[in-house]
Amino acid sequence: MFSFAGPQDSFDRAADLRGGDLAGILAGGRVLLVWRGKPLLRGDDLAWLSAGQLPAGASPPMFLGFDGPRDPAAARFAADLPGWSAVDAPPAPGFADATRQVHPDLPAGTAFGELRAVMAALSETDAMLAATARALTGWHATHGCCAACGAATLPAQGGWQRNCPACGAHHFPRTDPVVIMLVLRGNSTLIGRSAAWPAGMYSCLAGFVEPGETIEAAVRREVLEEAGVRVGQVVYVASQPWPFPASLMIGAVAVATSDTITVDETELEDARWISREEMAAVMAGHHADIRAPRRGAIASHLIEGWLADRLPPLHIAG
Ligand SMILES: [Zn+2]
Repeated sequence: MFSFAGPQDSFDRAADLRGGDLAGILAGGRVLLVWRGKPLLRGDDLAWLSAGQLPAGASPPMFLGFDGPRDPAAARFAADLPGWSAVDAPPAPGFADATRQVHPDLPAGTAFGELRAVMAALSETDAMLAATARALTGWHATHGCCAACGAATLPAQGGWQRNCPACGAHHFPRTDPVVIMLVLRGNSTLIGRSAAWPAGMYSCLAGFVEPGETIEAAVRREVLEEAGVRVGQVVYVASQPWPFPASLMIGAVAVATSDTITVDETELEDARWISREEMAAVMAGHHADIRAPRRGAIASHLIEGWLADRLPPLHIAG
């Protein structure tokens, strides 16, 4: 499962080696192949390949680092497979894609599958590596041209940079901060759903941090915009990489100072206050019409922390 605010310091990203010759490390390492954002899986686990197993059309491998000592056997890479079309099982639209695609040249038992569906079952390191692989391959796939002059750019630094041969600009993979907040008012929390979500699924409100904003200001603005509720105190709780496509979810707990909900219907289909007792039933899967957020996602972590009294101390109004 993803680490929440964990230091992830057991994995060595080895950024100092990115600019060097990585061929020897790659020869002994393992590669996670990603196709249209879907990692190669074996069951509910990542399927790591040797460099020699990469099929025709795979991108140059991107260096993720070492899972342990700096030995080639511990080296981990990611690669994309941009040109392939899975004719037998086209992916379903939307984030509930349950389809899997089998590539004829890859080991038996492997298939490309949606990361959201398996991430809660992955180890902390594998979840982080899958998130990194998905984010990096997605960035290369969508940033082939220089943002300064429009010329085609080239990958560099083991996949952590793209350089423009025409104007000399360097480009780096982006991480977009998103605030996600457990908004509390007395014994209740504020949940909402967007129309595109599976029926009955509700979660904490969330939104992108805008340029020039603090985390606290973004929390207050988003809750006011989406639900018309005013927020006072905001306390950071934990974070989670969320590579769909390039977000870092910044989890906070926030204290509401008003009750009345006014839903912004361009953002949300519904928002409501839900009591602690009702939320316990949701998380246990017993609620009549509300489904819990996906296990392993930071919203679940925030809600479970609230129900278990594990949140940072707050000055709860009301
Ligand atoms: Zn350029």
